[in-house]
Amino acid sequence: MKHKNLEKKYMLNVYKRFPIYFVKGKGMYLYDNKGKKYLDFLSGIAVNIFGYANSVLIKAIHNQSKKFTHVSNLFYTDTQVKLSKKLATLFGDGKVFLSNSGAEANECAIKFARKWGTAQNKNKYEIISFDKSFHGRTMATLSATAQEQMHEGYFPLISTFKYAEFNNIASVKKLLSSKTCACLLEIIQGEGGVRIANKNFVKELSKLCKQKNVLLILDEIQVGLGRTGKFFAYDHYGIKPDIVTLAKPLGGGLPLGATIVDEKISHIFSHGSHGSTFGGNPVACAAALKVLSMLDSKRLKYVSNIGDYFLSQLHKLKIRHKVIKNVRGKGLILGVELKKDASGIVNACLENGFIINVTQKNVVRFLPPFIVTKKEIDGLIKFLDNILYEF
Ligand SMILES: *Cc1c(COP(=O)(O)O)cnc(C)c1O
Repeated sequence: MKHKNLEKKYMLNVYKRFPIYFVKGKGMYLYDNKGKKYLDFLSGIAVNIFGYANSVLIKAIHNQSKKFTHVSNLFYTDTQVKLSKKLATLFGDGKVFLSNSGAEANECAIKFARKWGTAQNKNKYEIISFDKSFHGRTMATLSATAQEQMHEGYFPLISTFKYAEFNNIASVKKLLSSKTCACLLEIIQGEGGVRIANKNFVKELSKLCKQKNVLLILDEIQVGLGRTGKFFAYDHYGIKPDIVTLAKPLGGGLPLGATIVDEKISHIFSHGSHGSTFGGNPVACAAALKVLSMLDSKRLKYVSNIGDYFLSQLHKLKIRHKVIKNVRGKGLILGVELKKDASGIVNACLENGFIINVTQKNVVRFLPPFIVTKKEIDGLIKFLDNILYEF
């Protein structure tokens, strides 16, 4: 099959796809149409945390689809109510809006913050986000995303977003005013190059938001749900946001997003404030309930430990290879920053049956499923050790 030609003829050309056609997966592995096997260190971009074709998820999806796959949000469904209760409880005193994607989860948070702000003062609608952030591709979330190359061609953006410097509290103070309704932060920037917020910065930001009557929204779409070894990434920082957004791994590979808001402000949304036809789809919610039940404290501890091991092995690589500028990570989101463009590494990995990816041109990113073991990590490290000499 000439997939490249099919894409050119029938699909809008927004993705630079690799010429690989996957036909099935199992556990940590994906298989292409030529029978070639790939070890997956990307998880469909932080989605498939329990690998491919997980039997528990298959069963949950199958059972729910036998009953119905959709009824609309004019009615209650069992899986949606149970999932909302579970997420609200994990957050602690919250209320949930379910949608279909990360961008939608953030869109809901942005609308919520604006409604909350303008109810107090008609000019309290500005939101501060951070350089190299990524919040999605809808107009509002794109406007929140402080990456110029993604804005090209879409002006005018929603102009009420102000961009502060990541890890720089003074830059937030400079932008913050009586017009500010919220700060929107990724505690670890995934698309931004696996950049980790400092503990002090996050604590001060949380304090500042409280002092100035500003909502703190954390976008945990990539790093929430156990990726860092704790359920929420903010659990590492000893703070709690007013709103948190989740998506990527939530639906077990089915499209699902969640916006969780603190009980104390939840009254801001009432009938008609927001909505979605497909949001909280019963099949996606059934899968999510299983994802959450499999994501127990034992699994979180495992992610934390295996992540530490992975990071220590990457640090060893750094000692041997001058091309590595920096190594960083928490749990199973890890990045290796090179002193040069890293795209060649992705291709070399793919040729040799490893799926990884690169963000910000020079940061190799690893987002393996939570079932990864030392054996697979050792295999990847050995391969990287060999090819890095050529870079
Ligand atoms: C992927 C991602 C989004 C957007 O999610 P979509 O499901 O692609 O809309 C938003 N924020 C962060 C941090 C993400 O990683």
